[in-house]
Parts: sequence; C-alpha cells; structure tokens
Amino acid sequence: EPTLYVVATPIGNLGDMVPRAVETLQTVQLIAAEDTRHSAKLLEHFHIKTPLLAYHDHSDSKRTQYLIDKLLAGESIALISDAGTPLVSDPGYQLVAAAQAAGVRVVPIPGACALIAALAASGLASDRFSFEGFLPAKQVARQKRLAELVSNTGTVIFYEAPHRILESLQDLVVVFGADRPVVVARELTKTFETFLTGSAADVLAKVTADSNQQRGEIVLLVQGAPKSEAASLDTESTRIMALLAAELP
Ligand code: SAM
Repeated sequence: EPTLYVVATPIGNLGDMVPRAVETLQTVQLIAAEDTRHSAKLLEHFHIKTPLLAYHDHSDSKRTQYLIDKLLAGESIALISDAGTPLVSDPGYQLVAAAQAAGVRVVPIPGACALIAALAASGLASDRFSFEGFLPAKQVARQKRLAELVSNTGTVIFYEAPHRILESLQDLVVVFGADRPVVVARELTKTFETFLTGSAADVLAKVTADSNQQRGEIVLLVQGAPKSEAASLDTESTRIMALLAAELP
C-alpha cells in the first residue's frame, strides 16, 4: 500500500538513526526533505540512494499536490527534516494533513526529538508538560507569551536560538520570578552536551558567565507553577499582561 512515512532523523549523533528509518529511506521511491543539500550528507552516510525532493511548508500547494498525486499513483514517500522529528518546529504539517485528507496511509517512524530528550534528562516533572516552540524574537511579545504561561502547572518547554538565550532567561526572571526552577539543555547527543539546572536567576548567572553556554542548540525548560500558587500567579500575569498591552502597538 502506498504510504507517506514521517521519519525522524538524528539531532546531532548519527548513532541515533534507527534501523527502521534507514530501511524505510532505502525502500521508498522518493524522499521529501526540508533541505536537500543538508539531507544528502545523511543519506550518503547511510548509503541511501533514493532521490530527494525539497519540501517545506512554504512550498506552494502545487508541490504538496504533486506529492499527493504520486502517493495516489502508488508510490511511497518518506518525509524528513534537517534534524529530529518532522512537524515538531519543522515542516510537514501541510503534507501530512493533505495525505490524511486524501485517504493516504501515513506511518510514523519515531526517533530523536530534542524536546523529549531534554525533558527525559532534565529532572523536571514529566507527567504533564507543554511544548511552546520558539519564543517571539521581540521582547514585549516574548514577555507577553511568558506571562500567558506563568500559572501553567506542568513543565513548559521552548526551543531557543543561542543568540537569544540570555534575553529569554532575563525575561524568565522578570515574568516567572528569580526562584522558578529552570533547565537549559544544550547540544543534546553531541560532544558538548550540557544540562544547566537551578533557579532562573542561577541559570541566568551561569549562562552570562560562560559564553560557551550561549552557543549551539538549546532547549529551555521551566518547572510548572506550584498548584497552591497558580491562582495568585494568574492575578499577577493579568497585571503583567495589562502592562505589556499598554506597550504593544
Ligand atoms: N524537529 C526537531 C526536533 O524534533 O527536535 C526540532 C527542529 S527546530 C527547527 C530546531 C531547534 O530544536 C533548535 O533551535 C533547538 O532549540 C532544538 N534542538 C535541535 N537539536 C538539538 C540538540 N541536539 N540539542 C538541543 N536542542 C536541539
């Protein structure tokens, strides 16, 4: 049966490529990749010779339809992104939704995902968590987003760019308070993998003091609000949001 496979690839350590991912990429007729030049290196490493085609969510709907037509004609296609699990802060949603709508079988090949790896080793509560993707780049919008999350009782997880980690930690201290436990998980599965843990103020001080901590790939995790304090934090976040709303255009 023609199938769209959604295939996870490593987030730094090629040893994390699962055998089923290699087999799938070898046997499909076509691999749709976020960046074909980037993925060509991965395929070369695993001796995979399947043709690559560029696919991202900005691809016009013609590209999506082209892939759906191929699937309906009986070909199987694998979707990969530059790293980790497609669709997680990565392209693929349009294609998967279109495939589901067209009645095409969609099969996930699970593997690395930075937010799950970070959570699993962070020491923060993992029974409930929310993934918030990347924070806004501008400070007012970023503080507003943080204020919306301040009373969340589950662990909150963000992806962060290295050149913005200091500003985001500063905003965390302002909005969540200096004492809220925070983890910076950096360079997961790679040589310089690091977990910085402590209060928001502690972690901010560590990252400020060591510029190496402002490099590489970063997942930022924040412990949830204590249930007993969630209600009063809600009042506080309403206050912060009102202040921020006054600043927004
Ligand atoms: N689809 C990917 C996944 O499953 O994790 C995420 C893609 S997103 C465009 C890239 C972001 O993921 C990076 O900016 C960083 O925040 C996070 N990330 C990816 N690889 C990482 C790693 N090895 N260590 C820490 N964070 C990583």
